[in-house]
Amino acid sequence: MEIFSAKEALKLWKNASWAELAAEAHKMRVEIHGKKNVSYTVFRIINYTNVCKIACSFCSFKNTKPYVLSLKEIISTALAAKKQGADAIFFQGGVNQAIPLDYYLDIINTLNKKLKFKVRGFSPVELFHISKNNKMPLPELLQKLKKAGLSSVPGAGAEIMTSRMRKILAPNKLSAKDWMNVMEECHKAGLPGSANIVIGSSETPEEIIEHLNYVREVQNKTGGFQSFIPWVFQPQTKNFPIRHVRSEEYIKLVALCRLFFHNIPNIEVSVLGMGKVLGELALYAGANDISSVVLEERVMRSQGIESIEEAEEFIKNAGFKPVRRGVNY
Ligand code: SF4
Repeated sequence: MEIFSAKEALKLWKNASWAELAAEAHKMRVEIHGKKNVSYTVFRIINYTNVCKIACSFCSFKNTKPYVLSLKEIISTALAAKKQGADAIFFQGGVNQAIPLDYYLDIINTLNKKLKFKVRGFSPVELFHISKNNKMPLPELLQKLKKAGLSSVPGAGAEIMTSRMRKILAPNKLSAKDWMNVMEECHKAGLPGSANIVIGSSETPEEIIEHLNYVREVQNKTGGFQSFIPWVFQPQTKNFPIRHVRSEEYIKLVALCRLFFHNIPNIEVSVLGMGKVLGELALYAGANDISSVVLEERVMRSQGIESIEEAEEFIKNAGFKPVRRGVNY
């Protein structure tokens, strides 16, 4: 398997055609995962609070009435999701300093130990601030959350990890260095997860490669990223520069990620963000997983796959064999 340097990757990004990269990436995907299998998982996203002091330019949370879900509300949502076939819950919220540590421990514990869900949750920015608010070192916090039943963390909130782009998109959020530190600590604590990139603002080709390289270096140290997900910004707010990402650019990005991440086994395509037509094409450009059946998503308007039957049909229609996986692969 060829390992591309960041410099070579930049050259490919600037000069290769999307079709060339897609063909190479598909070969690599077949080498790693075989010709047929495409995986998916079924979980429910629970946005436990929409209160957040960070105010990222692209976040639509601030446009909704503030709330914190009670344990009772969370249990009832989770049980409804179980009826629809979910075996995992994904907690996603804001940086809400009014929430005590016990709240997090209770919701994880109840869902994992009593209701037998796998629990994934909390972006690096949430974890960073929970640790700070509770004056508890991050490794200690992670052990507590793990003991309560947390099994993995999403690498959410990375967007584009260069200081210039972070100033534009989310100046109050974690720096790239802090984001990576949190992810490294999670991996050390035995909490694996994913990483992503979000393009479609004013990022440069150099910044895209810098971001990918940053993730690859952390993965060389920890091996904790199980998957990588290329995303595109959705036009939810008018507070930051957004550009149209053409289909060929998205497919090229998926392919480049497959080729660049010799050390990350899975590339997920976001059917939720990109729609079914591009989602299908991405499966021939390096992606081997369609992420998840989305049973609820308050952060963005859903155009994803909403049932197990729909996921299986989508994968079969694309010419592959559906394989249901667990939330941690
Ligand atoms: S994206 Fe996350 S960190 Fe940023 S404002 Fe929204 S909830 Fe807060």
